[in-house]
Amino acid sequence: MILIQFIIGTVLGSFLFASYSRLRTGGSILSPARSYCDSCSATIAWFDLVPIFSYLILRGRCRNCNQTIPLASLFCELFFGGLLLSWQPTLLSTGYVLVGCLLFFMAINDVHHLAFPTIYGHGLMLLAVTLYGFFSPHHSFFIFMMFIWLMTQFFEPKFKWIGAGDLDVFLCLLILLGFVPFAWLLLLSSLSGLVTSQFLKLRRLPFLPFITASYLIILFFI
Ligand SMILES: [Zn+2]
Repeated sequence: MILIQFIIGTVLGSFLFASYSRLRTGGSILSPARSYCDSCSATIAWFDLVPIFSYLILRGRCRNCNQTIPLASLFCELFFGGLLLSWQPTLLSTGYVLVGCLLFFMAINDVHHLAFPTIYGHGLMLLAVTLYGFFSPHHSFFIFMMFIWLMTQFFEPKFKWIGAGDLDVFLCLLILLGFVPFAWLLLLSSLSGLVTSQFLKLRRLPFLPFITASYLIILFFI
């Protein structure tokens, strides 16, 4: 069952990434029906569409034109494989998986633009508030978090050390996961982000990919 969940996740990840790429370049999800190379438009053979394996066998290049295939597509397949692996047949777990999907595409946008569309942020807030309302009705804590969130909206320009969007995401994840898992998420994402920024010597680092990867790890422990 575990292997099946992982495989379904990788296939789903592969499909979602292809759809996302098509929409981003102004194409349609439905036509053409077959997958094609973004660079040379050649139709991709079925044996080159096996998630993870095809990327590794082709060494991340198109078989026809040798153009590099985005590394993000491999990450997407691995991430969704892991995400579905963490899924249990409960409403809460399904909600966590949906949050993971949203986070992944926010992270891709963060890598490209160091920001993400507001609609993703609102979607995350809606999911966090709904799940919180159903599963942990501690209202005083929730009102406190709303107060903090409003304050951050007010003082937003002063938060230079962290992207304002990242802060919203952190608050959503805090009410979703609770204190201890969130503390682990904060630790993991900050440490991995810090090490990577030192290693790559980047002045501004997209932080959401680290939050998203840490979120996936945390899902296996809550
Ligand atoms: Zn090609």
